[in-house]
Amino acid sequence: MSQNSYLVLARKYRPQNFDELVGQEVLVTTLSNAIKNNRLHHAYILTGIRGVGKTTTARIIAKTINCENKDLALAAQACGVCDNCQMIAASKHQDVIEIDAASRTGVDDIREIIDSIAYAPVMATYKIYIIDEVHMLSNSAFNALLKTLEEPPAHVKFIFATTEIKKVPITILSRCQRFDLRRLDEKEIETHLKNILQKEGLEAEDHALELISKMSEGSVRDSLSLLDQALASNNHQKLLPADLVEKMLGLTDKAKVIELFESLLGGDFLAASKSFAEFYSYSSDVSHLVSDLMEITHKTTSAKLIPAYKLDGYSKFQQDKISEIAQKISLASLTRIWQMLVKGNAEINFSAAPKMAFEMLVARICHIVALPNLQQVLLNVDETKNPVASKRSEINDDVVNEILRNFEGSRVIS
Ligand SMILES: [Zn+2]
Repeated sequence: MSQNSYLVLARKYRPQNFDELVGQEVLVTTLSNAIKNNRLHHAYILTGIRGVGKTTTARIIAKTINCENKDLALAAQACGVCDNCQMIAASKHQDVIEIDAASRTGVDDIREIIDSIAYAPVMATYKIYIIDEVHMLSNSAFNALLKTLEEPPAHVKFIFATTEIKKVPITILSRCQRFDLRRLDEKEIETHLKNILQKEGLEAEDHALELISKMSEGSVRDSLSLLDQALASNNHQKLLPADLVEKMLGLTDKAKVIELFESLLGGDFLAASKSFAEFYSYSSDVSHLVSDLMEITHKTTSAKLIPAYKLDGYSKFQQDKISEIAQKISLASLTRIWQMLVKGNAEINFSAAPKMAFEMLVARICHIVALPNLQQVLLNVDETKNPVASKRSEINDDVVNEILRNFEGSRVIS
């Protein structure tokens, strides 16, 4: 395949008909029936996360009701080959006006539209106004639109799309039929990607598709651009391996951060320094590394406290590793490490020598975790030999943390 003729997957496999829309059954059934029975509403509002198919749906509606192949159109299908279908698909139809409200938010922009509404369509049956990100319109723009929306001419249809339905005034919402395009679940995206690869004559390791689908968080478009990117870095070879996707998504960096985290928890200063040196050889962004360590600490703590906690964005191996660490380490230690990272982060951000500041932080953490577990020590004291044991019930995490804090403080000062 030559690079010039390569069409990105999201465009190549953009659904052209209702039956190709993945995962939006309610919308498809309702709209198909409305078209078949000629009971279309004059205004629709489509809402859902980015890349879930809002503008694609809007174009499918526009094509289906304007398709010159009337028999097909009556069955809620667009032929895809007539002039109307082709021009709408290419966003070049003069009766299908697509407006991005993010760049045209003012009342004058809307007035322009309103003025043009009275004129009959040039070549299509319906004049269709698709307003994307409609929540971005200004208040005065919304007000100007209201009257038209109440009683538009019979040849006009409005289709609004938005990612933030809560920002659309209720006066507008109440004049539209609303559809919530749902986020696809991971399995659905995986299946979709698999189908597309099959059409391309390609294959992927299951875990590769799992990772992409997780990363795209329910957005078909995001999943397709990630797949595009993965295929390109794989030189469009027949099999897409999982480790390549891991690398592409930065998951190997995560693996290194977990490795460093483990060395810190083990109090192994040498191993931790070695990991850090490796990091520093390709990125001097130390504060980013600290944020990554904070993220791992947070994830480990969540995994410890919430039994079914989902570690999204991590590979299976990394998820197992984090769960394993979470089981071994005490909550008190995690809290302490968190506090030290927060403090260390501030120091590093203000330091003229962030590398040294980080190394000092590593030393501090290793030192603290290498200390025997104070709580255990205090609890295991033999009652007959030491009076402290009688105060066992008073020894809790707070007491231990307080002792350690004092201890840390005295070391820093001395
Ligand atoms: Zn057609």
